[in-house]
Amino acid sequence: EKLVYRFGDGKADGTREMKKLLGGKGANLAEMALLGLPVPPGFTITTEVCTAFYKNAHAYPAGLSQAVEEGIAHIETVTGKTFGDAVDPLLVSVRSGARASMPGMMDTVLNLGLNDESVTGLAALTGDERFAYDSYRRFIQMYANVVLQMDHSFFEDILEECKRDRGVHLDTELTAMDWRTVINGYKGAVRNHLGTEFPHDPREQLWGATDAVFRSWMNDRSRTYRRLNRIPEDWGTAVNIQAMVFGNMGETSATGVAFTRNPSNGENQIYGEFLKNAQGEDVVAGIRTPSNLTKRSRIEMGSDAPSLEECMPETYQELIGFFERLESHYRDMQDIEFTVQEGKLWLLQTRTGKRTAKAAIKIATDLCKEGIISMEEAVMRVEPESLDQLLHPSLAPSEKNVLLTRGLPASPGAAAGSVVFTADEAEEVARDGTKIILVRDDTSPEDIHGMHAAAGIVTARGGMTSHAAVVARGMGRACVSGAGEIRFAPDRKSFTVGSAVIKKGDIITIDGSTGEVFLGEIPTIPPEMSEEFETLMNWADSLRRMGIRANAETPVDARRARAFGAEGIGLCRTEHMFFDPERILAVQEMILAETQEDRTTSLSRLLDMQRLDFYELFLVMKSYPVTIRLLDPPLHEFLPQADDDIRAVARASGVDISIVYQRIKDLNEVNPMLGHRGCRLGVTYPDIYEMQVRAILEAACDTVEKTGVSIAPEIMIPLVSVKEELTMLKARIDDIAAQVFAARGRMLDYHVGTMIELPRAALVADQIAEEAEFFSFGTNDLTQTTFGLSRDDAGAFLPAYQKAKVMPEDPFVTLDRDGVGTLMRIAAEKGRATRRSIKLGLCGEHGGDPRSIDFCEMIGLDYVSCSPYRVPVARLAAAQAAI
Ligand code: ADP
Ligand code: MG
Ligand code: MG
Repeated sequence: EKLVYRFGDGKADGTREMKKLLGGKGANLAEMALLGLPVPPGFTITTEVCTAFYKNAHAYPAGLSQAVEEGIAHIETVTGKTFGDAVDPLLVSVRSGARASMPGMMDTVLNLGLNDESVTGLAALTGDERFAYDSYRRFIQMYANVVLQMDHSFFEDILEECKRDRGVHLDTELTAMDWRTVINGYKGAVRNHLGTEFPHDPREQLWGATDAVFRSWMNDRSRTYRRLNRIPEDWGTAVNIQAMVFGNMGETSATGVAFTRNPSNGENQIYGEFLKNAQGEDVVAGIRTPSNLTKRSRIEMGSDAPSLEECMPETYQELIGFFERLESHYRDMQDIEFTVQEGKLWLLQTRTGKRTAKAAIKIATDLCKEGIISMEEAVMRVEPESLDQLLHPSLAPSEKNVLLTRGLPASPGAAAGSVVFTADEAEEVARDGTKIILVRDDTSPEDIHGMHAAAGIVTARGGMTSHAAVVARGMGRACVSGAGEIRFAPDRKSFTVGSAVIKKGDIITIDGSTGEVFLGEIPTIPPEMSEEFETLMNWADSLRRMGIRANAETPVDARRARAFGAEGIGLCRTEHMFFDPERILAVQEMILAETQEDRTTSLSRLLDMQRLDFYELFLVMKSYPVTIRLLDPPLHEFLPQADDDIRAVARASGVDISIVYQRIKDLNEVNPMLGHRGCRLGVTYPDIYEMQVRAILEAACDTVEKTGVSIAPEIMIPLVSVKEELTMLKARIDDIAAQVFAARGRMLDYHVGTMIELPRAALVADQIAEEAEFFSFGTNDLTQTTFGLSRDDAGAFLPAYQKAKVMPEDPFVTLDRDGVGTLMRIAAEKGRATRRSIKLGLCGEHGGDPRSIDFCEMIGLDYVSCSPYRVPVARLAAAQAAI
């Protein structure tokens, strides 16, 4: 099969459809060439070569060297230059490019093909010595780092020393002579470090770099990135070898990065940055803070550095034209790399731009309104999980907020935490849940674990498209970049801004939406949903089939759930109401009661409290369905453990302390999860469930009397495993209902159903459905009981299982389709076979997980129920599942 795909000169072997084989970068370079856009010629070595490389102990398939030679010949033909020539050398870049974009995770080498001879050729040919030696020193440094695995610091030290000698601050102030000194230093460093000369032969360089790019697929940071973004290991990367174009040929040359729309807020405005007289890496690495592309954003950011629009107006106009073409061709916001070589514009990369959730929503709804994409596509374009970012608070404005400094608004959101200075520190300090802000000069791909651990990130250097900014936006972390007033102490244990000194551990607050950094912790205010958010959610609602409910016990939660668009309560856990400190005593008295009379007294106190709870809940939910689960946990959970507490309970409830100890002993269980809980309590302590049912139905009557809306409570029995449990409990419920309705002189609809959370219940669901009017899959317990795996004890070994890929997914986060899912499918089918109209829902943690929601759609559940904050995520995920 074909190992190498060529592109350039208006032609290409590949297309954008071939990402799997060519990687994103390669496929899009081919596509841009086909569109007739100015792309330097090159070729792509396929991802299959990468896969084969790893399968065959780092050996390449036969025929690769031949194919690469042909690829080089193709570039030579288009450019008229010769690879390895001393007079007119062809220089190339060797670039990684995986199927899914992994910004900055893998390696790239620029200016490859230079050596002591060809650098003089390049200098003579261009008449620009400084440029030639600048390119050469960049090449040596990148090659030594990427291929020879030498640390950047070797080279940075040599460069710094040279700048110090010359008394200059910027790289651009160094002369050709200076660069030659630096190059000699670099080559000496390689010699000292490796005991060999820097490779002179361009072909040796080419294979060295190709090898390194393939190997970078397995480096630590790529692996971490893949794990965090669920990218499979066996995809592999492609390698792109492409003729160099030079943004470092003086003042008419430049390099830059742009988004066709604002990636932070989604506004339909070009957003980009560039550096004059520089090569691509400089913009991303944050070596110098770049200038704005457009005049408008330059003014908005209060910068004096002329924008590209102002200093190269013609190039700018041409660039805008390309942006428009690319955006309408790809029908989405693009992230584009370009280079200007002596006034001539080249495009080096395009890809669908990463964006914040806010921007994703704005762009999707705008593109739909512009008639470019359909409503379904718009709904598919927003990652449900990312909505989480929007539901988080922002800073409360106040006179008292002390502004420390300001940078660029690189990734929105507010975050407060203690300052740390390295990624490792970040990971370590955050381990116990401490919120931290990572403050650095700039970040590099080695820092991603620390960025992941951080609540927010501040960098002193770099722009909106710097590594820190891109990664933070992708992770949903707040980020302020390019806060140029920050000065680090030499020991890196503190930094200063003017006279303020901030040490490790000090608290700061950052606002990634404004770029502000404040001293101390600043209170936050709840988020406001944008108009576009509402629009997208309405579209999602019109496209989804499943209902979305929330798990909620309190009126506050219920109100929040309604505000987020929940269409009912899928799980009200009555025991949460019992744990309230003001009520726990009544519960304890009920459990400790020695006589039926005492027991009845405490139950009637609980009845009054629960009736009020349910009444308040019904008032909020009005005619939306509310599913109330009767008491589930074992009774000993309500009794104290510590001696002091036991004494206090004995005193408060007027019971002898020995009785309390005895009762605790009686209720003690070896394995409470599988013990005396759920409907088993209902069977053995009938009066507790009777009290709860009475409270529910009386509250429903009260609500109807008060509001006139009709209410049909759903009473849910937990932990059923045999139909007879339900038969017995349902008869009692009907009995209580008859009593309540007789006393109140009104009839209400109510429904009795069950949790399906034990494998046996799923397997005999046809029998259970004879009694149950609805099923709600309690997938937390169902996962525990199906795997025989206690969620509370899984922490000891599940991480090891995940790491070893024995069980790559945590089944408590994402539903196990094969096992738990099969039981659900069986239960759904059997339930429907008995009772065609049986209502089916899910109320476990999985109800807020998009991939689990997708499965619920597949098996035709009627609704999912999740925590209130997850409701928007679930609404969108359910729509995507239905499309
Ligand atoms: P990454 O995936 O980390 O962005 P790239 O392969 O895109 O790595 O390259 C890094 C930088 O080098 C980018 O700014 C890119 O535009 C620039 N670059 C890559 N190839 C060339 C080339 N042939 N000519 C000029 N600049 C290049
Ligand atoms: Mg790139
Ligand atoms: Mg349960």
